Amino acid sequence: MKRILVTGGAGFLGSHLCDKLLEEGNEVICADNLFTGRRRNIHHLLENKNFEFLRHDVTLPLYVEVDEIYNLACPASPVHYQFDPVQTTKTSVIGAINMLGLAKRLKIKILQASTSEVYGDPEIHPQPETYKGSVSVTGPRACYDEGKRCAETLFFDYHRQHDLSIKVMRIFNTYGPRMHPSDGRVVSNFIVQALKGEDITIFGDGMQTRSFGYVSDLISGMYKLMNSSDDVIGPINIGNPVEFTMLELAENVLELTGSKSKLKFLPLPQDDPMQRKPIIDLARKELGWEPKVQLKEGLVETIKYFDLILKEDNV
Ligand code: NAD
Ligand code: UDP
Ligand code: UDP
Repeated sequence: MKRILVTGGAGFLGSHLCDKLLEEGNEVICADNLFTGRRRNIHHLLENKNFEFLRHDVTLPLYVEVDEIYNLACPASPVHYQFDPVQTTKTSVIGAINMLGLAKRLKIKILQASTSEVYGDPEIHPQPETYKGSVSVTGPRACYDEGKRCAETLFFDYHRQHDLSIKVMRIFNTYGPRMHPSDGRVVSNFIVQALKGEDITIFGDGMQTRSFGYVSDLISGMYKLMNSSDDVIGPINIGNPVEFTMLELAENVLELTGSKSKLKFLPLPQDDPMQRKPIIDLARKELGWEPKVQLKEGLVETIKYFDLILKEDNV
């Protein structure tokens, strides 16, 4: 049995990761400041004797004794990470330094939840890990993109300078149950709007693309990466290479919910990437991983979840 620290463990992905690690027979310490995470996501774990919740901000040092660290703490939705952009950069950069310092003191393995946003608005398509990216240094997304890029740099420097064992994964758009209903990301927005009979808000002409991965696939990729051999350090893309336009996503959501919502076209936010799709050859080769869940299948599960919590919250 290992004792594993998950930062951001009360968030969407983090809470599913805590479930998986507990199922595998580990002890889990979930450290989260509940900025975007919610107690509801971990409520079912609070009575588990192998689970401990620590309200903690990763921009502050943390002294605990653990065997492994998954560093997920950071708001992920553009609406949330642009709410307090300075804090977003601090979370990525100072948070990474603190977690790397902890890993260095304990001589343990640490995994970073990085992002496809390190590629910015990509000029090559699809994106391999070798692509260096096209990121605006000064735009409204930079607090997140540059923060995550700097965190990757820190991971690689701790690896080279201190011989630390690291794993860096670049996560592409992921969706599923436990996304925050007012998270602002496209899948949760469209589903909540469809269920409430409100207009579906399409930014721009809806022809921009994303590749959506379901949460169970993402968590299995993350777990495989952490447990891969020491020479597999990444960065490694984890995502579903099937690409959809936002209009196609809206059509799928309308069909599966049976909603009569209308489409409403709004301006495209600044620096919004036009397309994004991972090349996952490296994950296939190094981890024997590939996504299993198709968009419609994942949307059905996600719609069920939102239907339930909207009823519970009576909104
Ligand atoms: P989320 O917002 O649901 O979870 C992030 C968690 O981090 C929340 O529980 C939040 O309270 C916590 N947090 C934020 N700032 C913190 C701080 N300073 N100290 C401690 N905790 C803090 O988002 P998510 O989708 O679960 O994303 C998890 C990680 O995966 C993030 O690092 C994100 O950048 C990365 N990622 C997610 C996606 C995606 O599509 N979901 C894509 C790429 C990368
Ligand atoms: N740190 C931590 N927990 C630990 C060890 C370190 O939070 O168990 C933090 C501490 O804030 C430190 C940072 O990690 O400043 C980086 O540690 P490192 O040893 O790399 O550098 P230092 O700043 O101590 O020289
Ligand atoms: N988007 C949209 N309507 C919404 C929310 C988002 O059309 O209500 C678009 C957004 O402009 C972007 C895409 O959907 O082009 C994905 O947005 P999201 O915030 O989910 O993720 P990211 O931009 O970080 O990939």
